Amino acid sequence: MREQVFWGWGEPGAGPSLPEHAGRFLHEELGLPGTVVEAPVALADVRLRPPALPAGLRARLAAAVGGEHVLDDAGTRVLRCRGKSYLDLLAQRAGDCEAASDAVVRPAGHEQVAAVLAVCAEAGVAVVPFGGGTSVVGGLEAPRDGFAGVVSLDLGRMDAVESVDVRSLTAVLGPGLRLPEAERALGRHGLRLAHVPQSFEWATVGGCVATRSAGQSSTGHGRIDENVVAVRCATPAGELATLGAPASAAGPALRELVVGSEGAIGVITRAALRIRPLAPAERREGWFARSFSDGVDALRRLEQEGMAPDIARLSDETETRVSLALAGPGGAMRRAGLAATRALGYGDGCLLVLGWEGEERAIGARRRPAAALLRRAGLLYAGRGPGEAWAHARFAGPHLRDDLLDRGALAETLETATSWTGLEALRDAVAGALRGTLGGAVVGCHVSHLYPTGASLYFTVLAARDRSDPVGQWESAKRAASDAIAAAGATITHHHAVGRDHGPWLAKEHGALGVELLRALKERCDPAGIMNPGVLAERF
Ligand SMILES: Cc1cc2nc3c(=O)[nH]c(=O)nc-3n(C[C@H](O)[C@H](O)[C@H](O)COP(=O)(O)OP(=O)(O)OC[C@H]3O[C@@H](n4cnc5c(N)ncnc54)[C@H](O)[C@@H]3O)c2cc1C
Repeated sequence: MREQVFWGWGEPGAGPSLPEHAGRFLHEELGLPGTVVEAPVALADVRLRPPALPAGLRARLAAAVGGEHVLDDAGTRVLRCRGKSYLDLLAQRAGDCEAASDAVVRPAGHEQVAAVLAVCAEAGVAVVPFGGGTSVVGGLEAPRDGFAGVVSLDLGRMDAVESVDVRSLTAVLGPGLRLPEAERALGRHGLRLAHVPQSFEWATVGGCVATRSAGQSSTGHGRIDENVVAVRCATPAGELATLGAPASAAGPALRELVVGSEGAIGVITRAALRIRPLAPAERREGWFARSFSDGVDALRRLEQEGMAPDIARLSDETETRVSLALAGPGGAMRRAGLAATRALGYGDGCLLVLGWEGEERAIGARRRPAAALLRRAGLLYAGRGPGEAWAHARFAGPHLRDDLLDRGALAETLETATSWTGLEALRDAVAGALRGTLGGAVVGCHVSHLYPTGASLYFTVLAARDRSDPVGQWESAKRAASDAIAAAGATITHHHAVGRDHGPWLAKEHGALGVELLRALKERCDPAGIMNPGVLAERF
């Protein structure tokens, strides 16, 4: 079984590290020493309460899934204690794992999941579905009060490719299948899912469906929710399964009650997803816009005029500057940056990365009008280098975050989406809120995931960590940013999901009746309230 380190990203020693010159950047920009100032605790030093399930429950769980699949050793529990947000990592690095579940249960199929839910509902034990453990919104840390215990339901054994319909271009996949394994298995049929979030290496099919995730090529291939054909969900009240018909007028789509339900009503035990042929060719490239405004408008026109590429990602001035500063000396990003600096008017501009996938000729046919539009809009072509450099480093961020945390930095991201009309004002409001609460922070932003009516904004925040109150420091910044998002009428989350962290803002988005409807759904499917308590709305 592949497992990540409990305090950070990836397997021990995997992944890239910050380049040498990053220390100088951290010193100049954030006033940090630039050297390692702290390290995560060892597993032996983690604080963990002894497992405490009600008498007889362990035996009943073992009867449901097999004794060897009910685990309560420290390593297994600590790794499933929480997700991978900045605050999660701070707690894990400090060895604060008192919130860990009492046992990790690993079912092998729908019936076993249903049996575990029945046992836990009867005993009043909370159940937290666990896919890849990459939640960044507090989706995996259940409160203990009011429950006789907490069980983490690890779906890793349910990782089958159940069937592939090459003619209809659909595949039925187990929830615990990790995305790289899904791509490998589908690749053998000449097919692919083409769902590539930055958490690709670890995220699972079930976790992505449960959180409505968006991959880096979602502009071209759609978010996961746009690709879900059918779902099967085990709830404490029974099975909820939907048809795989391509479209239906049979009332509101019940599939949508399960997609994005974050384990609050049940466990997704199977998902039928749209798949597509493997892409024989890929082209990635960079452009520079003189300003964020110019770049946003060019993206809007590409999308609305039917010329959008599969990947489109426009960094604002700060994100562009930081990316160029942290790129290795002589790297393609840096060379492209210097070239652009020389080109009058683009020096402090914004880097746009575009990507196309498919047949070589089809890429050419799609790209030509898009490139012409960008030139007319005043953007400067920077060659393939920046696009290739982005592709090369596309999974590096979470590894580098561990290094940043070692060096005393606050490093976190947040995201939202709004209309084209409101996009720039929203960027200014959220960045302003973050800078206002975190004096001296570096706040970069990029636009990605384009839609005819608007796009997503993704913020990356770097600051010197307040060592006396790091949790309070980030909580107040995140609250200010979330308030700014809600005040602008934007969504509290475009793809990270609600979890427990975004619950306080859900009523602003859905209204009181909307939240009541979610509550009613939860109460009907999960009368004992054991399913991932606290996610989706503060406390049902
Ligand atoms: C470094 C990093 C980069 C990321 N990049 C992206 C990105 O590019 N795009 C994006 O959309 N998200 C991104 N995320 C967020 C996260 O990876 C996604 O939300 C992902 O969908 C979670 O998948 P997972 O398998 O890890 O789920 P988990 O983290 O294990 O679970 C997420 C939530 O879903 C529930 N759940 C999991 N499986 C099931 C199931 N079978 N049935 C019911 N409920 C279930 C869990 O209880 C939890 O509430 C990123 C996270 C990190 C740490």
